Amino acid sequence: MSDDRHEPVELRAPRGARVMEIDWADGHRSVYPHELLRGFCPCAHCQGHEGPIAFVEGGDIELDDIQPVGNYALRLVWHDGHQTGIYSHRFLRSLCACSSCAVEDPKTRSFSRE
Ligand SMILES: [Zn+2]
Repeated sequence: MSDDRHEPVELRAPRGARVMEIDWADGHRSVYPHELLRGFCPCAHCQGHEGPIAFVEGGDIELDDIQPVGNYALRLVWHDGHQTGIYSHRFLRSLCACSSCAVEDPKTRSFSRE
């Protein structure tokens, strides 16, 4: 069964830009300010071990590298060396901050753990 909603077909993260973009197989385009990606880093260091994933202030928002993890996730490598955040495609889709996905302030949202 294909799951176009959670299948990225193109990723753009121009060096020096402050946003990452993902085009999904269902035609949706997501735009992620780096600040939002860093704030929602899902790793245990940033989020602790329980409770929903919420926005955490602070942390470098310069993105140095994006590495695929299997065929289900991306690892984001930040300029301050933080690289324990594994962002599943499913999580990234729910994090989409476009005006039709995020009606409220994206920073005030929280996400359940997978
Ligand atoms: Zn983290």
